[in-house]
Amino acid sequence: MSENKPKEGINRFGQKTITMIPVEAPLNPNPGHKLRTSNVIVNRQALSSGETLIDSSRLDKVAGQKIEFYSEGNQVGVIRVADQEEGGPVPNQFTGPSYRNPRQRFRFDGHKMMHHLDRLLAWERGERFAPVHIDMGLTKFCNTACLYCYAVVQNMTRGTLIEREALLSYIEDCGRLGVRSIGFIGDGEPTLNPALYDATVRAGELGVDTSMATNGLLLDMDRAHDLLKNMSWIRFNLSAGTREGFRRVHQSKEENFDLLIEKIRALVQIKKQYGYKCTLGLQMVLIPECFDEVLPEARLGAELGVDYFVIKHCSDSEYKEIGINYEDYLTIGDVLKEAESYSTADYVVQAKWNKINAASESALYKNGIRKYDVCHGTPFLLQISGNGKVYPCGPFFNKERFYIGDLHEQSFFDMVMGDRYWAVHRDVTESVDVHKDCAIGCRQDYVNKFLWDLKNPPEHVNFI
Ligand code: SF4
Repeated sequence: MSENKPKEGINRFGQKTITMIPVEAPLNPNPGHKLRTSNVIVNRQALSSGETLIDSSRLDKVAGQKIEFYSEGNQVGVIRVADQEEGGPVPNQFTGPSYRNPRQRFRFDGHKMMHHLDRLLAWERGERFAPVHIDMGLTKFCNTACLYCYAVVQNMTRGTLIEREALLSYIEDCGRLGVRSIGFIGDGEPTLNPALYDATVRAGELGVDTSMATNGLLLDMDRAHDLLKNMSWIRFNLSAGTREGFRRVHQSKEENFDLLIEKIRALVQIKKQYGYKCTLGLQMVLIPECFDEVLPEARLGAELGVDYFVIKHCSDSEYKEIGINYEDYLTIGDVLKEAESYSTADYVVQAKWNKINAASESALYKNGIRKYDVCHGTPFLLQISGNGKVYPCGPFFNKERFYIGDLHEQSFFDMVMGDRYWAVHRDVTESVDVHKDCAIGCRQDYVNKFLWDLKNPPEHVNFI
């Protein structure tokens, strides 16, 4: 195999350069002008004369070329070996090791808007359209008291939940409207609403994808099959890998940690036994109080056999009521990387680096200034409170100016097709200053960045 080590130098401007030209590569005799390095250029014609280009998707099957697979951490790459037994030279054989990016199984750290171009076109045409996704609470209360709970700033109210009939007719309307997915996420604990299970089954019948984020403690195991059969994913909010950490971060009894682990283990077993597709995962909300729990939980996830363990930043409110100092995240990068190294083919460990690394942004951006000025995302990704009240987004729950309606009083179909719904979304785009009125890193953030770029194209867009 050709030697292809980085070669460092100082260029004629006194700047550091790094090149990777293999010593045995054929060089171009008439290389043209000097680059910032030199005018030593590989002769690509000599490498590829008379050859058709390699279909890179078939790199591991190219005739006459030897390859070796190698792995580093959880990633598998391909090394093309220069020595050939048959066939002629292949292009770029001196560029050294090639690589295959591992498939991204989940996209925790981004958005999937490009898969919903029909809604984008409707938006661009100024039409009324159904949200692609809705995050919704099913209750306004909880049975644990996590240190980082955002719902606390959204006014929790013991005993308040969406009534069964209202919930089920809302699900029917989502099917009618073409809502693509609903996450029972946010506000209170969803398993405290007994209608959760029937709502999930009905959504499945209507072709609306569902998911849930839960602390898992009260999950009704008698309905486990209904959930695993119909939900796309279930995520356990767990920010500790030990009993002691669980008590500290979730402010709950250590025995509850045992109970939760037992339930997750049973769900994994049922899922495997019956071949259900539902993804089971753990999510840690990263705060300094659980920094020491990252690795134990990464190991716990592997041992339980869940599909993933994701570590996310803690979203603080516009008033920073959770008191997060985002610079604290700069101290834990190595631990997060070690946790990610526990990933296997069946188990993904991933930190949401985009948000976790926000503290290393420039002084302007690290304290919450966004890379866009207008929020366009709420009609695509709506949020509903656990009391049935519809708002454009979670951070605006209880802000009556942005109140759209109540699922107990009006059909969701009429709401989405009505004037009030669109007047509120318009008010958000026209009057909200995302840099000061909004929670840090809200749910619509990735979508907003994408829509902002779409709305504000640079010059020369045809030069893609
Ligand atoms: S940017 Fe502001 S208005 Fe828009 S969803 Fe986020 S918090 Fe709500």
